[in-house]
Amino acid sequence: MNTQDLLGNLVGALASGHLKVIDLTQTLSTEFPTLELPPQFGQCEPLRVEKVSEYDDRGPMWYWNNFSCNEHTGTHFDAPIHWVTGKDLANNSVDTLPVQELVGPAIVIDCSAEAAANPDFLLDVAHLEAWEAANGRIDEGAWVLMRTDWSKHAQSSRYKNMDETGQHTPGPTPEAVKFLVGRGIRGFGTETIGTDAGQAHSMDPPYPAHHFLHGAGRYGLQCLTNLDRLPTRGAVIICPPLKLERGSGSPLRVLALVAA
Ligand code: MN
Repeated sequence: MNTQDLLGNLVGALASGHLKVIDLTQTLSTEFPTLELPPQFGQCEPLRVEKVSEYDDRGPMWYWNNFSCNEHTGTHFDAPIHWVTGKDLANNSVDTLPVQELVGPAIVIDCSAEAAANPDFLLDVAHLEAWEAANGRIDEGAWVLMRTDWSKHAQSSRYKNMDETGQHTPGPTPEAVKFLVGRGIRGFGTETIGTDAGQAHSMDPPYPAHHFLHGAGRYGLQCLTNLDRLPTRGAVIICPPLKLERGSGSPLRVLALVAA
């Protein structure tokens, strides 16, 4: 294989539109919903923006802002160091993880009908086996993206769907996450706030997606959008988080390359 042709073909396909770039990122605004934990725990800050200047006395020719937020605000990446199960792994923070892993294939598991019918829908092993029966084995090194169309609720209270028992949003069962880790996946991505279901605090173990993925050195992507525009197989995801020193994650732009 001529590797020079590989990049030339990529550039040509992008220029001609045979490859499309799809944005899987929600716009990060000060209103974008953040995870709410029980009050005894520290909380995730939303985005804050402070204008420094806008072509005015503070900067006559330039516009810019200071901003701050949690590492897990908006569409964001979870690194293994985020969870106690991944705390002692090598290269487990966003500044040290292998950049070769930040470009890779994705498959989509469509749970949109199930999630519309039941906000507490859980993706289980039977769904994954049915997906494999229809589409072939889940590839080692793939991002597994759980499509729920939950991204479409980002402007409404249904996005977090909170009541006195916490968040009611879809996610995987512990067994499903173990199954995916056993397949050697690169990471798991969702349209909700968190790779885990809203009620995952009461699972065994609690927050199984975080527990098993990060314990295995795997990654998470959350608050994704436009998963309904991806093929079941064949997309390539580009998702480099900010290079924050010892960062547990970061907001980021997530792009998908898709054959048109
Ligand atoms: Mn997170």
